[in-house]
Amino acid sequence: MMAARPVDRNLRHHPDLEILADIIERWADDAPFNRAEGRGDRGIIAAGFAHRKLLDVIGEAPRDDLRVLKLGVLFPLPRETVGRFLAGCREALILEENEPFLEVAIKALAHDLGAPVRILGKATGHTRREGELFRWQIQQALERFVPGFVPARTYHEADEASERPPRENYCAGCRFGDVVDALKEAADRLGQDPMLVGDPGCLAAVGDRLDAKFAIGSAVGVADGLARAGVRDRAVALFGDSSFFHTTMPAIANAVHHGSDLLMVVLDNGATVTSGFQPNPGQPRDALGRPAPALDIERIARAIGVESTVTVGPDDLDRRLPEVFREGLSRRGLALIVVRTPCGPADAGGHREAGSRPGG
Ligand code: SF4
Repeated sequence: MMAARPVDRNLRHHPDLEILADIIERWADDAPFNRAEGRGDRGIIAAGFAHRKLLDVIGEAPRDDLRVLKLGVLFPLPRETVGRFLAGCREALILEENEPFLEVAIKALAHDLGAPVRILGKATGHTRREGELFRWQIQQALERFVPGFVPARTYHEADEASERPPRENYCAGCRFGDVVDALKEAADRLGQDPMLVGDPGCLAAVGDRLDAKFAIGSAVGVADGLARAGVRDRAVALFGDSSFFHTTMPAIANAVHHGSDLLMVVLDNGATVTSGFQPNPGQPRDALGRPAPALDIERIARAIGVESTVTVGPDDLDRRLPEVFREGLSRRGLALIVVRTPCGPADAGGHREAGSRPGG
């Protein structure tokens, strides 16, 4: 095991951090992950998966009508590399997923350098601002950006589904839909129409049955906010076990502190699937595969101050869920129901290691 470095408490670390960031930036300028190719005064700067999708649209060979910078290091931004690229461009289109992080940083860099180049991207409306960037959208952006652009292969909006990662077979046995249906049926019987607020991730598969879905870890905060904003129907927050450990606990503590009236449902699939199967603190292995204590969702919730916790195991779903949801929807205050339904086809038994979690 690596010996821990002694901490010099008199050292002021923030200046060191800035020095290190400068060193990393200089390293990034020489890093092999950044690559410029092609010709012309129109440039594209693409990062990560967006670069792969760009190559699918324009082809692998460098083009005479387009210069492309593949950016493999985003922070600190390799300013010299990007500055050199911008110097040859009249316009540069930024391709990136999520927020226009690079676009804003590169626009600022162009301004600092006094480079006469227009920076285009999500913020300027030249690529779609929200959602995933699909190949047909990149193709459309290029058709507007490069006169007479001819793609290496044509992509259509109608084929968008085929670009998404294949999950259907893997998820064929998923019970999340059954759980949400059972919740809605229990509410129907009680004459209730609760606002169902979910996290993204696996709940996207049942997104059509939710009333709101915002960001990972947001379900409890959003549901609590709806209740406080005077939404008449009771709010129910649905989220996963990974989300519970990573970002939802502070929202639950806040809900306890404010005496919220909220039903919370943890859909515990025993895995962090959507972002790559990395372990979460509820599992008995750490990121290096070593044995690690598996934390208990129910005990943590009770320790924070949640008054009622109930657990339904995978073998009990059909028998117990109607009654557990009826009780949860009938009581007032803060309640948490953990529904254990291991991830993966039912006949494969899911991915959870047997006995991986203390009983709850
Ligand atoms: S919980 Fe597992 S089976 Fe269900 S949608 Fe997520 S990945 Fe698929």
